[in-house]
Amino acid sequence: MKIICIGRNYANHIEELENERPSEPVIFIKPDSSVLLKQHPFVIPEFSENVQHEVELIVKINKVGKYIDAKFAHKYYDEISVGIDFTARDLQNKLKEKGLPWEKAKAFDGSAVIGDFLPKAQFSSLENLTFELKNNNQTVQEGNANMMLWKIDELIAYVSQYFTLKIGDIIFTGTPKGVARVQPNDVLEGYLEGQKLFRIQIK
Ligand code: ZN
Repeated sequence: MKIICIGRNYANHIEELENERPSEPVIFIKPDSSVLLKQHPFVIPEFSENVQHEVELIVKINKVGKYIDAKFAHKYYDEISVGIDFTARDLQNKLKEKGLPWEKAKAFDGSAVIGDFLPKAQFSSLENLTFELKNNNQTVQEGNANMMLWKIDELIAYVSQYFTLKIGDIIFTGTPKGVARVQPNDVLEGYLEGQKLFRIQIK
C-alpha cells in the first residue's frame, strides 16, 4: 500500500506558506511505514524542531487503475476520511531551498495519520464536505472540499497517469490554512462533517 499526497491544493494554504500557485498538482509519496498505528501516540522525531499538522480529506482506493478518466474516477473509491500529513517544516524548508526531494520531512515513520473511513454514500456531495482539526479542543484548521483547486476525481485522474493505483492505496488531498507546530501533550482530533474520525496524542 502506498500513500499519494497532494501539495498546494488550497489557495489559502499556498498563501500562508508563501508558495507559488502550481499549474498542475504537486505530488509526493509516503511509504506504508509512515502510517501511524491505531491507538499509538505521535512521537515528535528528534530531527525536527517544528513538526506541523496538516489535516486533509483522504480517499481509499478500492480498485486497480491506471490512466483513469476523471469522469470514471468515482468508481475507484467508496470510502473517505480525514488524516494528518505531519510535516517537519524546518527540514522541508531546508530541502526546498536546495531543490531536494521532501521525503525526509514528509514521509518519516508515523507521519501519516489515517482516520476511520466512512462510506462516501453517506454524504450528499463530495464537493462540499466540511472538515476540521481540533488541538486541545480548540479548532485550529477548518476546510471544505469546495476550496480545493483540484477535486478528488481530478486528482485520481492526474495521479493515475504516473502511478498505478492499487486496492488500499490512500490519497491525501492537501491541507487548508492553519498548519501549526505540535507540542508534547497536544491532543489532535479530526472531524469530517462533524463526525470525529481520529484522536491522536502528541509525545
Ligand atoms: Zn499535506
